[in-house]
Amino acid sequence: MATRTLTMIKPDAVENQNAGKIIAHLEGEGFAIVAARKLRLTTDQARTFYAVHKERPFYNDLVAYMTSGPIWAMLLERDDAVPHLRRTMGATNPADADEGTIRAQFGESIERNAIHGSDSDENAANEGAFFFSASELLIV
Ligand code: UDP
Ligand code: MG
Repeated sequence: MATRTLTMIKPDAVENQNAGKIIAHLEGEGFAIVAARKLRLTTDQARTFYAVHKERPFYNDLVAYMTSGPIWAMLLERDDAVPHLRRTMGATNPADADEGTIRAQFGESIERNAIHGSDSDENAANEGAFFFSASELLIV
């Protein structure tokens, strides 16, 4: 069944001019781009987006990195979107990511790992609403 997931092309990948290659990879996997926007997260936005990690030792560094430059936020659609995007991204640490995955190709470190993907359908809905209004989510 076609479902949706939220991705971010993270500041390292935008800075390294890899956004277009990552979008091409996602389209090659059959994802349709429902909505997309380039923006720079504020510190408050990044803290809120990653609030689930607020007790983790990497939280402050993660917020600093995610606000260090522009990102692309995109709402994607295809069959089994959440698990398929997670497989397409590869492991959080690019050193552990399977060959050919986005993080293996474009990630620099466990922090600067090129791309975000929602980890559940519920979080995909919440993260989609974080970036896009309801009217922006109607076009496929
Ligand atoms: N992260 C980090 N150090 C860690 C684990 C995660 O800097 O030890 C960063 C990394 O950018 C990661 C993000 O925090 O993508 C969110 O972590 P999560 O465990 O949710 O990984 P993901 O779902 O992105 O694979
Ligand atoms: Mg996660």
